[in-house]
Amino acid sequence: MRTKFLFDLDGTVTSVETLPLIACAFHIEQQIADLTARTVRGDVPFIDSFIQRVQILGELPVSQISDLLSTAPLYENLANFIRRHPESCCIVTGNILDWCAKLLNRLNCESYGSSAIIEGDKVKKLCRILKKEDIVKKYIDEGFRVVFIGDGYNGPGI
Ligand SMILES: [Mg+2]
Repeated sequence: MRTKFLFDLDGTVTSVETLPLIACAFHIEQQIADLTARTVRGDVPFIDSFIQRVQILGELPVSQISDLLSTAPLYENLANFIRRHPESCCIVTGNILDWCAKLLNRLNCESYGSSAIIEGDKVKKLCRILKKEDIVKKYIDEGFRVVFIGDGYNGPGI
């Protein structure tokens, strides 16, 4: 049976979380910290929190976020495994793919993420929030044995 390794991106392939990187670079630490605190307390459901995050980050130039995230440090052993076995590996991220485009180019394997309409280098509209379990199911249905690597306390995972 063929095996497909599905990797979360943020904090799994990257050795740092990307949200604080963006918050720091664009000086929106307080806004993001407030949202994170409300989410961790359970005051904001995770999906609503993600939508609010996209509203905050969506105002920032997409190209600059992609450039910034392309510099994120990776767990190199893991990244090299992906580079050596691209046909067996797939990145599954809740993040908007346009933000991760240049980072994903460094891994060069199939990727799934959330999608948005981009206009004028900004996120105009969030179209689809990726449900990671849908990708797991897709590969199981295609006859793969699926191994999922990553994801933490945030449940559905971004
Ligand atoms: Mg993660």
